[in-house]
Amino acid sequence: MDPGSSASSSSTAPDSDLPTYERWMRKFSLMTGLGVTKEERAERAEAARHATCEKWKRELMTYSPAVVFMLKHLKLHGADVSSNDLMCVPCASTRAGGFSPEAGAVLLCQGRLMSKGHMEDTLVHELVHMYDHVKFKVDWNNLRHHACSEIRASSLSGDCKWSREVRRGFVAFSKQHQECVRRRAVLSVNANPACPDKATAERVVNEVWESCFNDTRPFDEIY
Ligand SMILES: [Zn+2]
Repeated sequence: MDPGSSASSSSTAPDSDLPTYERWMRKFSLMTGLGVTKEERAERAEAARHATCEKWKRELMTYSPAVVFMLKHLKLHGADVSSNDLMCVPCASTRAGGFSPEAGAVLLCQGRLMSKGHMEDTLVHELVHMYDHVKFKVDWNNLRHHACSEIRASSLSGDCKWSREVRRGFVAFSKQHQECVRRRAVLSVNANPACPDKATAERVVNEVWESCFNDTRPFDEIY
């Protein structure tokens, strides 16, 4: 190792290396937008969204009963999900999250999740997809398979605010809840590239409705 190269310098000094005055000026300029490029501001904003997403994720993985419950049951079926498998990323679309079967990972759209509660619902929804993928070997190009998982994911997550009732021991299905789950499932199936039109999505969701809506695993298991 060449001792002469150990003190390498970079073109932009980190904040901590700057004199106090300059450091404050840099902070101040980020707030006012003076002397800061648009890109720099956007970069900082994205970094802040990422940090919030990571913070909520860590808290939910530790303190959310629904998330902890799903992670535990995924582990029981051989999927040991770490925080690296739940990725906070910027998303181009308006979606809040997604499940990638190839990566075995859940995407959390930083900046699209409006609150920790919203992230909790989204995370549980995607973890139900992951659970189905692990346990039932879902073929995501098969619309019946996809519809079934969407019905379960929307019903069992807080998407339609029902899972909280399940954990309290209520199993009464309100009409409103069913309509919400049905509508969301149709939307998701319709977005599948293998789905030709909305009428097909509606038909498929109806076909699998009875068996999938009543399949509340793993929430029916004693824990
Ligand atoms: Zn879904």
